[in-house]
Amino acid sequence: MHRIALPSTRIRDRYDVVVVGSGYGGGIAASRLSRAGRSVCVLERGREILPGEFPSTAPRAAEEMQVSLPEGRVGSATGLYDFHVGDDISVLRGCGLGGTSLINANVSIRPEPRVFADPAWPTELRADVDTRLAEGFRRATEMLRPNSYPATFPKLAKLAALERSAVRLGEKLQRLDINVSFTDRSAGNHVGVPQPQCTLCGDCVSGCNSGAKTTTAMSYLPDARNHGAEIFCELLVRRVEKDEHGCSSRRTSSCSAPVLSGPPKSCCARRSAGFHCRSGSARASGATATSLHSATTTSRR
Ligand SMILES: Cc1cc2nc3c(=O)[nH]c(=O)nc-3n(C[C@H](O)[C@H](O)[C@H](O)COP(=O)(O)OP(=O)(O)OC[C@H]3O[C@@H](n4cnc5c(N)ncnc54)[C@H](O)[C@@H]3O)c2cc1C
Ligand code: SF4
Repeated sequence: MHRIALPSTRIRDRYDVVVVGSGYGGGIAASRLSRAGRSVCVLERGREILPGEFPSTAPRAAEEMQVSLPEGRVGSATGLYDFHVGDDISVLRGCGLGGTSLINANVSIRPEPRVFADPAWPTELRADVDTRLAEGFRRATEMLRPNSYPATFPKLAKLAALERSAVRLGEKLQRLDINVSFTDRSAGNHVGVPQPQCTLCGDCVSGCNSGAKTTTAMSYLPDARNHGAEIFCELLVRRVEKDEHGCSSRRTSSCSAPVLSGPPKSCCARRSAGFHCRSGSARASGATATSLHSATTTSRR
């Protein structure tokens, strides 16, 4: 499998659309907008981690921890497991090309109808449930190919235990759809990426080393790349600004950190977003990015 991220020196002056992040939100936006013929740039703060490069031992996993505590931060700014510990709520999110899809549990199910029946949702969204939203689910299914654990595969102790629990509760066990390939697609999946069959190793939440897990790095992002999107890693966007002069952009040859300039995200799709680089700085009237190459921090806020 080949890397799809480009070196940051390859960032061009202008793009129609700048996508920040490469999880589901960023990956889908990049894929759809590049398919629609827009020039797209994806900026991701984390590293591109290929199957085979995810931690497989506790010490390696420990190296991939970054933790934000009320007292300060510890760990590499590009560590895969990004913990935010708060007083009342703590969050784990993924940091890498693929976002949290790299470390989630793959479960891919549609909300039950009662979810969108809740009037807390905006009226406009609820009006679209049977039309645009349904089309969105159709497209996501096409790309992520969710399927349930095949009945022909080896019996799993955990599934057997859940089955027994369901029987005791008088319920029927349902195998949920997951974004995992249970067939060998080593010759290339639907976006041309070699994707072998799941080995049942159970490491999905620390990162799939076989490539069977259909993360955005195995689906939407290569699809975006196939349609011309340019993807850059280890760049932290610090600011998105409105450029009162429209879309002007400059670039200097000694740019060590890419800087974006252009209209706010909401109009990027219609107006050109430009990059504006200054040596070692990160000013932007569009978005400001900082290079995270080898940025390891232990700091207080
Ligand atoms: C352990 C775990 C298991 C889960 N299991 C499931 C499951 O089974 N099914 C399910 O539906 N959901 C699950 N989730 C939740 C699901 O993965 C997330 O809801 C989803 O990934 C969110 O997508 P997103 O695009 O909003 O954000 P993310 O996927 O987190 O993507 C955000 C991206 O933006 C990047 N980024 C952030 N800030 C910047 C910046 N300033 N500059 C540049 N890049 C930036 C991040 O590095 C990241 O790549 C799980 C989550 C976890 C942590
Ligand atoms: S190969 Fe292992 S990590 Fe990858 S999807 Fe299958 S069980 Fe999960």
